Amino acid sequence: MSVERKILLNPGPSTTTDTVKYAQIVPDICPREKEFGDIMAELSRDLVKIVHGRPEDYTAVLFCGSGTICIDITLNSLLDQGKKALIVNNGSYSDRGCEVLRAYGMPFIELKQPIDVPPDPAIIEDALKQNPDIGYVYMTHHETGTGLLNPIREVGELAHKYGAFFITDTTSSYAMIPIDVYRDQVDFCMASAQKGIMGMTGLSYVIGRRDLIEKSKDFPKRSYYCNLYLQYHYFETTGQMHLTPPVQTIYAARQALKEYFEEGEERKWERHQRVMKAIHEGEDELGLREMLKRENQSGLVSAIRYPDDPNWDFDRVHDYCYERGFTIYPGKIEKKGTFRLCALGAIDEEDIRAFFKVFKEALNHYGVQIPIRYTDRTEG
Ligand SMILES: *Cc1c(COP(=O)(O)O)cnc(C)c1O
Repeated sequence: MSVERKILLNPGPSTTTDTVKYAQIVPDICPREKEFGDIMAELSRDLVKIVHGRPEDYTAVLFCGSGTICIDITLNSLLDQGKKALIVNNGSYSDRGCEVLRAYGMPFIELKQPIDVPPDPAIIEDALKQNPDIGYVYMTHHETGTGLLNPIREVGELAHKYGAFFITDTTSSYAMIPIDVYRDQVDFCMASAQKGIMGMTGLSYVIGRRDLIEKSKDFPKRSYYCNLYLQYHYFETTGQMHLTPPVQTIYAARQALKEYFEEGEERKWERHQRVMKAIHEGEDELGLREMLKRENQSGLVSAIRYPDDPNWDFDRVHDYCYERGFTIYPGKIEKKGTFRLCALGAIDEEDIRAFFKVFKEALNHYGVQIPIRYTDRTEG
C-alpha cells in the first residue's frame, strides 16, 4: 500500500517518506516497558549526535508536544532567581519567546531588531555589559516567518563572554543546516520531529548541556509539566518519560533518524539547498520578489511578496495548487502581504519544478500577469 504523495512547501510539518509513515504501525506496547525505554534512550543519543555533542556533555530531553513546548521549557526552566533573560527579538518566533516570558511574569530585556537583516552584535554586547544580571541570551537561529538566518556563533560567544547561557531555537534549522554545539557556542537548542528529521508531529526535544541542566535543579520551578530538570531527572533515573510519550511518533522518529544518518548531514543540506535553488529559479522566471536579500536567507524559507495585481488572491492560488497536491503557506509578517515556499522535507528539485508548472497554471487561470507586476521599483 502506498500513500498519496503530497508536496508540502509550508514550514513544517514536512513531506515524509512512506517508510517513516509506516514505521508508526507497530504492535501495541506499553511505553513503560524496558523495550520502549531503550528505544527512547537510543533516540536521545542520536538526537545529540546530529549536533555533534558528546554524550557526556550534552543530552536530548524528550517532550510530548509541538515545537513551542521547547521554547516554553527552556525559557521557564533555565532562569535562576535574581537573573534576567535577554531576548533578541527579530521575528515572530523570538516574539513568541517574549510572550512566554510575559505569561510567566519573568523579568527580561527585549532587544527588538529589524526583521530582515541579522542583528548587530554590538547592540547585544552593550546590553550584556549594562546588565550583569542576565542569566541567558535567547535567539532564534532561523526565523521561519521571514527566512532570516541569525548569527548564533557570534551571539553565543558574547553570551559566554559575559557569563550567560546561550539558548537558541533551532526548530527550523536542526538536522538541515549543519550545527556543531561546540563550534557554534550552543548551550541549549531545540527542535521538533515534524521539521528537520522529517518525522511526525507530537515529539519535541531540548538538546542541552548536562552540567547546566543539573545546575538548574535549584532554579525556581515555574511549571510542573514543562520543567526541563524534572523531565531530565526522571529519564536519567528511570529510563522513561515522566508522563505518557507519543508512542507511535517515537517509532516514526526512530525510522526518520535512520534515514537521516543514511542520507548524511552534508548530503541532506546539499539537497535542501538544491531545493531552494530551484525555488529561487522558479521565482526569478516569474518575476516574483522576496522580502529578504538572498544573502540574509537561511536557504530553507523564501518569503515572497504578494504581486501588485488586482487578480492576485492568495487563497484562490493556494486552493488551485492544493487540489493538485502542492501546499503553499501564508506569510507571518505583520501588515505585509507575503507567502512562503519552504525547502524542508523529503522533497527534491524536480518537485519544485513540478510545483512551478502548477503555480504558473494557477496564475494564468486567474489572469495574474506574468512577469509579475510590482508597483514600486525597489529590488528585493
Ligand atoms: C515551527 C517552529 C516552532 C514550533 O512551532 P509549533 O507550531 O509549536 O510546532 C518553533 N520555532 C520555530 C523557529 C519554528 O519554525
